[in-house]
Amino acid sequence: MQREALALKEKGKKIGFVPTMGALHEGHISLVKVARQQADVVVMSIYVNPTQFGPSEDFSRYPRPWEQDVKMVEEAGVDILFAPENLYLPDASTFVQEEKYSLGRCGGARPSHFRGVTTIVAKLFNLVQPTVAVFGQKDSQQCDVIEQMIRDLYFPVKIVRAPLIRDARGLALSSRNKYLSPAEYEVALNLSTVLHETIKTQGMTQKELESAARSRLKKVPGMKVDYVTWANGYLCSAVFVGKTRLIDNVPYIIN
Ligand code: AMP
Repeated sequence: MQREALALKEKGKKIGFVPTMGALHEGHISLVKVARQQADVVVMSIYVNPTQFGPSEDFSRYPRPWEQDVKMVEEAGVDILFAPENLYLPDASTFVQEEKYSLGRCGGARPSHFRGVTTIVAKLFNLVQPTVAVFGQKDSQQCDVIEQMIRDLYFPVKIVRAPLIRDARGLALSSRNKYLSPAEYEVALNLSTVLHETIKTQGMTQKELESAARSRLKKVPGMKVDYVTWANGYLCSAVFVGKTRLIDNVPYIIN
């Protein structure tokens, strides 16, 4: 991959990069479209990164529908699909850790998660040599962390945040939605509904905003609230529906 990328750069090609963990949906494909607008060659990676999963999380059962993914990648017009088997040598001992934006929100509930994310994204950037890399606003904190990492470590790459894509009923698209039973899906819809309804009220302080959303989410039968936090211009939340952890966020300006 690195040889190929360096050869493309030698020819003056701009590489647009979309890192994913597969189990692709329209949210991922929307990132490809954004990359396509900004680059000559679009590279997508599919790699379920073990270091961003906690010990009791869903690494082994994370969906890996390989043939369906390849079909979607072809239809989306991706030029290079990079799907390595393993990016950690048995004696790997180097990790990348961002120490400000990684705290709180998902970093609170998943303490080693962002260390895994920054480590794998740094590895992938070195392999793929992107001019532009596209990340989804769906993972708002991940965008904050990656933007900080490329500033701090001088990665020569432009980060683009692509909009959050939802299904017809408002649920943020996610590979983990596949875990939801039909009844759980109905419960999960409350996450986006509550966040959107909460932000209709203008002029709230951060505390008022967070507690308005939190108290409504707590009342939803079948939903367990992990966090509700305003950060960097977005009201963000993570909840559990059954065993499935779902995240969402909506923009809100606090004056
Ligand atoms: P994942 O495969 O879940 O690691 O996601 C790979 C990339 O797709 C990340 O940059 C995500 O933020 C992005 N992504 C996932 N779901 C969505 C969505 N519903 N809308 C926009 N981007 C998304």
